[in-house]
Amino acid sequence: MTLTPSDLPVELSAATWGVLRGDFPLLIDGRFVPAASGAAQTAHDPATGKGLATFAMGDAADIDLAARAAAKAFAGPWSRLSHFERARLLRKLADLLEANAQLLGELEVLDNGMPIWLAGMTARNNAELFHYYAGWAERIEGTTTTPPAHVLAAGEALTYTLREPVGVVGQIVPWNVPLAMACLKLAPALAAGCTVVLKPAEETPLTAVVLGRLIMEAGFPEGVVNIVNGDGATAGAALVKHPLVSKISFTGSTEVGKLIVRECADDLKKVSLELGGKSPVIVFPDADMEKTVPGVAMATFFLQGQNCMAGTRIFAHADIYDELLEGMAAFTSSMKIGHGLSPDTMIGPLISATQKARVMDFVDEAKAGPARIVTGGNALDVPGHFVEPTIIADTTPDMRVVREEIFGPVMAVQRFEGDDLDAIAARANDSDFGLSGSVWTQNLSTAHRMVARVRSGHISVNTHGAVGSNIPFGGFKQSGWGREFGREGMDLYLETKAVTIAL
Ligand code: NAD
Repeated sequence: MTLTPSDLPVELSAATWGVLRGDFPLLIDGRFVPAASGAAQTAHDPATGKGLATFAMGDAADIDLAARAAAKAFAGPWSRLSHFERARLLRKLADLLEANAQLLGELEVLDNGMPIWLAGMTARNNAELFHYYAGWAERIEGTTTTPPAHVLAAGEALTYTLREPVGVVGQIVPWNVPLAMACLKLAPALAAGCTVVLKPAEETPLTAVVLGRLIMEAGFPEGVVNIVNGDGATAGAALVKHPLVSKISFTGSTEVGKLIVRECADDLKKVSLELGGKSPVIVFPDADMEKTVPGVAMATFFLQGQNCMAGTRIFAHADIYDELLEGMAAFTSSMKIGHGLSPDTMIGPLISATQKARVMDFVDEAKAGPARIVTGGNALDVPGHFVEPTIIADTTPDMRVVREEIFGPVMAVQRFEGDDLDAIAARANDSDFGLSGSVWTQNLSTAHRMVARVRSGHISVNTHGAVGSNIPFGGFKQSGWGREFGREGMDLYLETKAVTIAL
């Protein structure tokens, strides 16, 4: 069944309907083409289950064409452009993203299910990201240093470093914030001077195709960006193995991340990984509860919990344990669940029936005790993949809801007593992951001392998940390799070449 206007809570813009009724082809070598095999698949609205549009499903043959196009563009026009010309193209794309924010936002909500306010926020961030990396493109520079003694011994000499792009990059992204993930990967890679084959997630193929059109409209040379929708096991795996690809940048599950590392070991491709998380949220008795209650609830339930940096392991001090639980239960019950296009929706659907079943499996296991469901605990009996935001109290470190990434709206709360920060940190760090986290206290000393003890790549105080163009983001432990955003995000796409000249 195909989506019609009567399925939606609000009127969609004519531009979005126009795009939905059109094609979603692959972008290879500057041309929009069907898959070589002719394969296509239907994308679905997770809130209604209705079909949205048909998109081309690439496989190894399309990845090969895309990688060859990217290699040709890297050797040709792209590497001859100056840093300043690259920056100008990035800024043009930023402006086009801004001009098409409504279309991209509506399409993202339909494809992914996220609330429209969030899609609007990410649309603005995406434009900002391209502006930000345009700035870095203009500032790529090496250093001069002292020549080696044996060269100096023979006379005057000079040593300096060049920063050069890695080459053709394969970028593989997940479905949870599809357009933002694509932009986050593309902007620094293009700023560095790499060319790209991007593989979006098969669950959310649509906005990447529109992004591809804007990239061509901005004037990027053919083959600089190639976008191949397709399955992970076919298109994704072919990209990872392709001999013309010098680096893989992957965001997704830890399981697939490990698989990619093993594959890349064969030809020692460079790899950067943004993987799963199970981030701790530590609430001290002196926290400002008026801000902490909604802040901690949103740390888990933002994006329906389908969020790698979600704070899902809550450690609450015994003195405020009941107050926090009661407050969050009341806050959570007030969150409107519905279609992401409704302006007042706070909780949209999960991405798929499979994800809903997976999340409910965790919840049902917790229902058996000894943990306690404080609020939520049910899937909604409506079309679409909705699960109530669920708070599980009195959890213990060995429980599956505490150990595993659920990627759904499920919070596991544990109690702690006393003020031994090392003991609290030991519990917070008892995880294979180390992506994000937050500390809630009004005591500056407690905040800094706790932050220093938590083993994660990203942590906030009295807020959670503060990401932005200039804030490095990535994981300790099994949450990944490397940092995205900020200057470090572009460094992932640059090699350093040291040059010594005997004069
Ligand atoms: P996933 O690993 O199943 O898929 C991610 C991408 O990898 C998709 O494009 C998929 O097609 C592709 N893929 C799957 N198998 C592949 C293979 N064998 N070879 C190459 N590519 C393959 O993850 P998902 O379920 O789509 O996303 C959820 C996961 O992503 C969660 O674990 C979440 O924590 C993680 N994530 C991490 C971050 C971060 O920044 N650290 C951000 C968002 C999501």
